[in-house]
Amino acid sequence: MAVAEAVKTYQNLIGGEWKDARNGATLEVYDPGNGELVYRAPNSPVEDAREAVAAAKHTLEVEDWSDNPGKRATALYKLAQALRGSADWLGPLLTREGGKPLSVSRAEISRGAEAIEYYAGLARNLYGRSTMLAPDSLAILLREPVGVVAIIVPWNMALSLLTRPLAPALAAGNSVVIKPSSATPGATAEFVKMIDSIPEFPKGIVNLVVGPGSTTGAELVKNADVDMVNFTGDTSTGKEIMRMAADTLKKVGLELGGKSPNIVFSDADFDRAVRGALNAASMFHAGQVCVAGTRLLVEESIHDKFVDRLAEMANRLRVGYGLNEGVQAGPVINENQLNRVMDYIETGKSEAELRTGGRRLTEGDLEKGFFIAPTIFDRVPVEAKIAQDEIFGPVLAVQTFSDEDEAAEVANSTVYGLAGAVWTNDISRAIRVAKKVKSGMVWINTFGKLYPAGEMGGYKQSGVGRQYGLEGLWEFTEMKHINVQL
Ligand code: NDP
Repeated sequence: MAVAEAVKTYQNLIGGEWKDARNGATLEVYDPGNGELVYRAPNSPVEDAREAVAAAKHTLEVEDWSDNPGKRATALYKLAQALRGSADWLGPLLTREGGKPLSVSRAEISRGAEAIEYYAGLARNLYGRSTMLAPDSLAILLREPVGVVAIIVPWNMALSLLTRPLAPALAAGNSVVIKPSSATPGATAEFVKMIDSIPEFPKGIVNLVVGPGSTTGAELVKNADVDMVNFTGDTSTGKEIMRMAADTLKKVGLELGGKSPNIVFSDADFDRAVRGALNAASMFHAGQVCVAGTRLLVEESIHDKFVDRLAEMANRLRVGYGLNEGVQAGPVINENQLNRVMDYIETGKSEAELRTGGRRLTEGDLEKGFFIAPTIFDRVPVEAKIAQDEIFGPVLAVQTFSDEDEAAEVANSTVYGLAGAVWTNDISRAIRVAKKVKSGMVWINTFGKLYPAGEMGGYKQSGVGRQYGLEGLWEFTEMKHINVQL
C-alpha cells in the first residue's frame, strides 16, 4: 500500500536559525485547484517579527556585507543558479499553493533567476559621483544601503514578486526581513533555504517570518529599526502601509493594483492583437496579475469582429488543475476571492453585455477547486464598477473609442496607472498615445513582457517608486554627500 507523503511544516528563518513560531501556532495552506492540504507554516506573532528585525540589524553591524560587493555578487549568482535549477520540483509547489498552470510557475522561476542574475552584475557597480563644488571643496557622493528592509509579498506571484525587490535590496548591501503572504509561504520558504545554504550570505542577512499581515506584517512597517518597507499588494493595503510608515518616516516602495487599458486601433495586426488581448487579460492565472490588461479598448470600426473572435478564443481555453497536461488557465486563490469575483460578475450582468463565461465551473473535478469561466463583458460604460475596480479575476471589460483622444481619455479614466498597451501599425500614433496614457509602463504591439533591466511601477494609485532596472536598485540606497574641505 502506498504511504501518503507527510505534509511538511515550514519554519521561520531568524538570525540563521530555523524556528517555529514562538507560540507554536501554525497556518494551513490548501491547494486552490483541489482543496487538498499542501503544507503548514508558522503563524507567527509580532515578537517573531521583532526578533527578525533585530537579527537583520545586528548582522549589518557585525558583517562586512555592505562594504563587500564581490561577496554580494557571488552570493547572488549562486542563488540565481540554484533557483534556476529548482524548476522541476519548485514549479509544482508554486502551482499547488497558488493554482497557476505549471508552465506559468516554471516561467516565474526563470524570471526570478534572471532578476537575481541582473542585480548580481550590478552589485559591483553601485557608483556614486565625485565633483569639485568650489576650488577648495570636493564632494564625494556615495551610494549607501538603506539598512534593514522589510519585503512584504502577495500571493499571486509569490516568487517573482519577492525576487524583484529582494535582488536589488541585497545587491545594494541591505539586510532583509521577508514576510510572504500567508496564502503562499511554502515556495518562499524553499527559496530561503537555498539562500541559507549559500555560504557567502551571512547568517541573518536574509530572514523569513510567516504570519498575518494585519499584525506581523504591520509590526515590520511600524518597527523603528526597519529603515525601508517594500510592499507589493492591494492598493488599500498600500495606503494603510504608507500611513503606518509615517510615524517613523521610513522609506516606502509600493507596487499596487491596476486596471490596465489595452488599446487596439483598427490598423493593428488583427490576429496578433486578438491573441494579445487574451494574453493581456491574464486568463492563464485567472486574471490574478497586477499588470493584467483587464480593460480592452477597441476602435469602434473593428469592434464586432474583434470581440466575436476574442470570445471564441476565450471559450476554448482549457481551464483546469494546474498540474494537468495542457491546462491553460487555473483557479482563483481561495473561496473569498471566488465569492468576490462572482459578486463582480453579477454586478457586471446589470452594467454591461455578458459575451461569454459569467459562471463558476463545477463540472467533474473542477468542483473541488475555485474555477471561474473566462468572462468577457462588452459595451462596458466608463463609470461601471467592473470598469473601475480591480477585480483580480478572469473578467475582461470591453470598451470602445473612435479616435486617439477618446482612447486616451477612456484609458486614463480609473484611479490606477500601472501599465497599458497600444496596438497599431502607425508608429507615430503608437508613441503619441503611449505618451498620453498615465501609467508606469506602456507596451506597443505586445502586452505583459517584463524585463529585469527595464523599470516598471505605478502612476496614480498604482504605487510609489520603481522596480527593476537601475531605478529599482537606487530605491534601496541612500545618497550620502561627504564634503572635503581642501
Ligand atoms: P494584500 O494587500 O491583501 O496583501 C499583500 C501582503 O501584505 C500579504 O503578505 C499580506 O499578508 C500583507 N498585509 C496585509 N495587510 C497588511 C498590513 N496591514 N500591514 C502589513 N502587511 C499587510 O494583497 P493580496 O495578497 O491580496 O494580493 C493581491 C493584490 O496585490 C492585488 O490587488 C494586486 O493588484 C496586487 N499586486 C500588485 C502588484 C504590482 O506589482 N503592482 C503585483 C501583484 C499583485 P497576509 O495576506 O499574510 O495577511
